[in-house]
Amino acid sequence: MIWESLVEFIFPRQCVSCEEWGDFLCKECRERLDFVDQICPECGEGSPMGWTHPSCRTKKSMDGLIALYEYQEPVARAVIDGIKYGFNQELIKIVLQDFRFESGEKFDFLVPVPLHFYRENWRGFNQAEEMAKELSSQISVPVGKILERVRKTKQQVLMKTREEREMNIKGAFRIGKKFRNFKLKKLKVLLVDDVFTSGADMRECTRVLKKAGVEIVWGLALAH
Ligand SMILES: [Zn+2]
Ligand SMILES: [Zn+2]
Repeated sequence: MIWESLVEFIFPRQCVSCEEWGDFLCKECRERLDFVDQICPECGEGSPMGWTHPSCRTKKSMDGLIALYEYQEPVARAVIDGIKYGFNQELIKIVLQDFRFESGEKFDFLVPVPLHFYRENWRGFNQAEEMAKELSSQISVPVGKILERVRKTKQQVLMKTREEREMNIKGAFRIGKKFRNFKLKKLKVLLVDDVFTSGADMRECTRVLKKAGVEIVWGLALAH
């Protein structure tokens, strides 16, 4: 595309972490990225493979979470911020290319966590959706924009406690128009977002999906 070569010309590739020229993430920084230990998406404590602890399970809980990196880790943070604020699709490709999904589930849809329109930037870039698209071409599972945002929420970083975050996000999502007459029962879906942080968004998305009959909901995030 002309637009892409123009961008390439104006903004030559530079490592988002160490700022070396040549690639969006240089080889050294890439090697410093360690895959993170997995956690239970309900309580945040360690869990092998990211499975939700049996004791944390409820009817509307997530079934598991796969996170690639630790958000506090500087290289991972530079990568995630580079994707979020730099509209960098190439970077998404780089981090997802080594990804192997090992939950044992075969998913029907990859579902991006919807962003409220006022937070999508001027290019309409939702990083969760871009991640889902990239992953879709790798693992041959279609992207299904099953969820939509209903209302504006305050930024989750401004909320201090888990309860505040859950309250802030409650009722923020619903099943999108195109999927209201769609058979959601027995579906297995993988929710996709850039960062898990408190997990309130993904847990609320899960609640809405399970209420609509979806059977299995796993999450995938670049970092927790
Ligand atoms: Zn670098
Ligand atoms: Zn747990």
